[in-house]
Order: sequence, then structure tokens, then C-alpha cells
Amino acid sequence: MHNSEFFEQSPMQDPWSNVGAEDWNNWKWQLKNRITSLEQLETLLELSPEEREGCLFANKKLSLAITPYFFNLINRSDPQDPIRLQVIPNVQETITNKGELLDPVGEESSSPVEGIVHRYPDRVLFLVTDRCAAYCRYCTRSRLVSNAQDYNFHPKYDAGLEYIRNNPQIRDVLLSGGDPLLLSNNKLDKLLGELRKIKHVEFIRIGSRIPVFLPQRIDPELCEIFKKHGPIWLSIHVNHPNECTTELKKACEDLAFAGVPIGNQSVLLKGINNHADTMRKLIHKLLMMRVRPYYLYQCDLINGSAHLRTDPREGIELIQSLRGHTTGYAIPQFVIDAPNGGGKIPINPNYIESITEEAIIMRNYEGKIYQYPLTQTASGSSAHLDNFIIT
Ligand SMILES: *Cc1c(COP(=O)(O)O)cnc(C)c1O
Repeated sequence: MHNSEFFEQSPMQDPWSNVGAEDWNNWKWQLKNRITSLEQLETLLELSPEEREGCLFANKKLSLAITPYFFNLINRSDPQDPIRLQVIPNVQETITNKGELLDPVGEESSSPVEGIVHRYPDRVLFLVTDRCAAYCRYCTRSRLVSNAQDYNFHPKYDAGLEYIRNNPQIRDVLLSGGDPLLLSNNKLDKLLGELRKIKHVEFIRIGSRIPVFLPQRIDPELCEIFKKHGPIWLSIHVNHPNECTTELKKACEDLAFAGVPIGNQSVLLKGINNHADTMRKLIHKLLMMRVRPYYLYQCDLINGSAHLRTDPREGIELIQSLRGHTTGYAIPQFVIDAPNGGGKIPINPNYIESITEEAIIMRNYEGKIYQYPLTQTASGSSAHLDNFIIT
């Protein structure tokens, strides 16, 4: 079966129906023609009062920006469209609910240099810009991204690189932001070149939603840069099967052929992807685009996100409905990034019924009970494992 029938072509709707393919496929045209104001948005879409009011507040919270390409994936007659809910502001974002924070995963407290977050001993997050092609309304870094809150983030490449050079335990660098793929090819080439010069840096990856918001950006020159400095790993951010277009598939293919392994990080969002059928469709499409589902995040407790958050137990149930029922490669790890800087914690359905001195008693995906004996292992004494006994 040919793939194309599974991937929705982005429909060319007005007011861009008269835009030629050359402009439409040019990422600079897409950026220049982003929807960034209420006035523009209202000519395209009938907004609800909550959305309208949300747009009025956006420039003080997290800017409004949507690329024409991504906007065109919205079914404009559906007020609950899953793309719409991700990028159109809503006044509920201005309400701070119980437990919500400006810095929900405590990044500021583990930042030795502006732009570096060093939480795990062997790896750092390196924030290289505060700009994105479009803004996700549940952004965990909305305090600094788009600069709507006057954070005044200034990426300090030299200080960041110096910090990494001086800390030989850092073997893994994750470029993020903002979206690193908004940097020019020249800047990325230089930055990756500097990182590659550091002997202890073994692993370089980039977190980016550009392939989803602006697939046109994945040009041959960028692919050459990744090839040159490779392996460069990429984590993209796809939440819903409607984002899996022929354009995204082409971008992923070009990256994969340049030797870039691609993972996906989704955020579990109410009314967007918190149903087993939607999630199954998404992860199957990702595999078909050579993308390995990596993490499924419980939505962080970012200010004004209650209307998009789910009960974390829904995530556990979702994973349980997938495990065993579909390809193991398709199943992301569900994680909660713990408030106050605890880091990402894997949250799994429980397949262990009990562990006794004799056996581990387990439940399979169909709910049937099995056991694996503990007494006949070759290793001999396992006294140090005794505290694993759960009865
Ligand atoms: C997510 C994250 C990482 C990377 O974590 P992995 O589990 O290796 O993907 C590194 N540093 C920070 C601060 C993070 O939030």
C-alpha cells in the first residue's frame, strides 16, 4: 500500500489560494506571512469570545504566531479542531490555577549560565534562541519564549560553550529554545562545529517543532550541515495525526537520508490527543515517517494550562491500551517532568502483581497472570535484590 493516502495534503484555502507554489514552499515567505494579530486572525476564522479575548492578552503572555502552512491544517468549521486548540490563544491562559507555576519544572534553579540548564550530571539543555516559528499555547517555557513577558533572554553562545568545555562530565548537549532551527544555516554550522570540537561531547541533539510548523525550512543546505557534523539527533513535537502531512513526511525523509535519527515528543493534551484511537493513529503515522515516538509528556503545570491538561492517570491508561496491542517501537515513554526540578520521571502501567522469594508474578497485556521463577538464576546470591520483594 502506498503511503500517500495516509497523509493529508495541506489544503490550499483562501486567502492564500493565489499564492504561488514558489512562495508557499519558501520558509522565509511562510515566516514573513505568519498570523500574529487578532485583526489578521479574524479575517480567517470565526473566533469564540474566549479566543478573541485570549488574542488581546497574548502579547503580554505568549505571542500569537502561526505559519500559513500550519494554519491551513485547521478545519475552520470545527471550534474544537486539534490544531486550533494548540495555537489559537484562549483567555483561560490568563487564569493561574492551583499548583501552576511560571517555571513549572524548575529550570531557573539549575541554570549556571544564562541559557544553560544543567539538571542531570552528564547532559545539558542549551537554549539558543527565544523565538519559535509558531507558539504552542501550553509552552512550558512561555516565561521566556517570544519575549512577551519581558524576560529579555539573550542567548550567550560563547558563555554556554565555555561552560560545556569546562565541565568534562557533559557528554550530551541538547539544543533547544525557542526553536534552534530558526537560526541561520551559517550560525547552526558554526555552533555545531564548536560543539564537535569539544572532545567529551559525544551526543548532540536538537529539540525543534520546525518540521511541524515550517517543514519548508528543512532545506538541502541544512541537511548537509547535519551530515557534516553528524550524528545529530532530532526530537520533533507532533501531537496529532492531522499534523502528519506529506510536507512533514518529506522533511523527515530528507533528514533521515542525511543521517539524522528522529524521535518525537508529544504532550498529552485534553481534547487534542487524549484518546487511544487518536494516539494510535499518530504513532503509526510517525513510524511510517521514520520517526520513533520517544516521550509522551504529562502537560507541565505552566500558568494558564488547566484547560488543556489531563489527569495523569489518563496517560497511564493510554499506554496500557497500546502496550502489547501495537508495535513496541511505536510506544512512547509516558513521563512527568516533576515540579521543582525533579526531572523527568517515567510513569508506567503496573505489570508486576507481586515479587516473592520464589518468583516475579506478572500480568501480560491481556491481563493474564504469568510467573518467572527467581530461584534458579545462575548468579547465586542475590541478597542485594531482597528489597525488591513486593507481596
Ligand atoms: C529533558 C531534559 C534533558 C534530556 O533528557 P533525556 O531523558 O535524556 O531526553 C536534559 N536536560 C534537561 C534540563 C531536560 O529537561
